[in-house]
Amino acid sequence: METEVSTVPQHRLLRTEIPGPRSQELQARKRAAVASGVGTTLPVYIEGAGGGILVDVDGNQLIDFGSGIAVTSVGNSAPRVVEAVRDQVGDFTHTCFMVTPYEEYLAVCEALNELTPGTHAKRSALFNSGAEAVENAIKVARHATGRTAVIAFDHAYHGRTNLTMALTAKSMPYKHGFGPFAGEVYRAPMAYPYRWPTGPERCAEEAFAAFVEQVHAQVGETNVAAVIVEPIQGEGGFIVPAPGFLPKVADWCRQHGIVFIADEIQSGFCRTGDWFASEHEGIVPDLVTTAKGMAGGLPLAAVTGRAELMDAVHGGGLGGTYGGNPVACAAALAAIETMRAEDLNGAAKRIEAVMLPRLRDLAVSYDVIGDVRGRGAMLAVELVQGGGSTQPNPALTARISAACHREGLVTLTAGTFGNVLRFLPPLVIGEDLLNEGLDIIEAALAAHA
Ligand SMILES: *Cc1c(COP(=O)(O)O)cnc(C)c1O
Repeated sequence: METEVSTVPQHRLLRTEIPGPRSQELQARKRAAVASGVGTTLPVYIEGAGGGILVDVDGNQLIDFGSGIAVTSVGNSAPRVVEAVRDQVGDFTHTCFMVTPYEEYLAVCEALNELTPGTHAKRSALFNSGAEAVENAIKVARHATGRTAVIAFDHAYHGRTNLTMALTAKSMPYKHGFGPFAGEVYRAPMAYPYRWPTGPERCAEEAFAAFVEQVHAQVGETNVAAVIVEPIQGEGGFIVPAPGFLPKVADWCRQHGIVFIADEIQSGFCRTGDWFASEHEGIVPDLVTTAKGMAGGLPLAAVTGRAELMDAVHGGGLGGTYGGNPVACAAALAAIETMRAEDLNGAAKRIEAVMLPRLRDLAVSYDVIGDVRGRGAMLAVELVQGGGSTQPNPALTARISAACHREGLVTLTAGTFGNVLRFLPPLVIGEDLLNEGLDIIEAALAAHA
């Protein structure tokens, strides 16, 4: 078995300005052909990628700190994924699992049932996108409980379909002008340590008390089908809930017959150094949604959960034409095999060990870094005005991100206030590229902070 990370050379190389002339030409074509609502963070057009490097159409080699938003954790065109996809495409590309099924779908469900937290009997169902998985988790929870209300949190991101827009917290750009949204969705406070009014120590307890009181007064426990939460919030700014908050919420759900859904779409599959971020605090969710990192870049998503909940739905109640496409399933099986064989949980922990101390050192030197947080290879810095002010600094965040892009480092921003630089390198990235990326961030801070 080929275990080399990639045939793409693993070093940064700038041949032109970023974006280069060929990318600029393509971007002009984009403006004429693609709906402008579909944005691009960094308009360099890619023609090859692997390991920690993206190669653009001008021959530039960029360091990847984004993984296509936490998708290519096993690397782009990871060798095992490429081989499995080639084989599967040659055998058959689609039958529709709901018409004439195939074994690859079963094998992905078996792997999910085994890998997700908890030893109880589980079932899985496969879909195409994260939002679709979230929608289906809510369908299952409502059907199984006979209740309708769903609780989501401040800073949550669960997708862009109608129900998932309702669950997502941030208006611009995700919801603005797209209402009305699905009903029976209620929002509760998130235990956000950095911005908790009375300080991080009291955050878990006070946020939980506020959550309980708010749900009791405004919704009523017996009306609640599900509570959905990201164990580490993604688009909301890599907010790690104050320790203790999630276990309290999960226990409270159990007491009230409410389905606890962990949305692990961004945090799952080795990203945080565990198979799932829920494991860090020993949480066993009733349902888990997965997507992004699962299939090495192919579109695949899933809901996995307690057999009695998943099996409560009548036959034909769940599905979709492409859900669990055989090529995507083959990719997922190869990606999971790669995670096991290459110990990508260990790799995520090593990335944390390289990046976190350097980011913390930067926070000592630059008071515009208000908070450094995250786990494994899901790390972020929150930028503020500094000089004693914790006011968000989205303008500086945009400047630093743009400076990184010009130097050939792909960085992403996040956060309700647009003031978080988030880092999601592929788990197979080399340590030299990690350090070079951090050097670029440091230089951008020095120039702009
Ligand atoms: C990306 C994401 C989604 C939506 O996934 P899509 O595949 O874009 O529909 C849902 N939840 C979380 C936590 C995500 O990060």
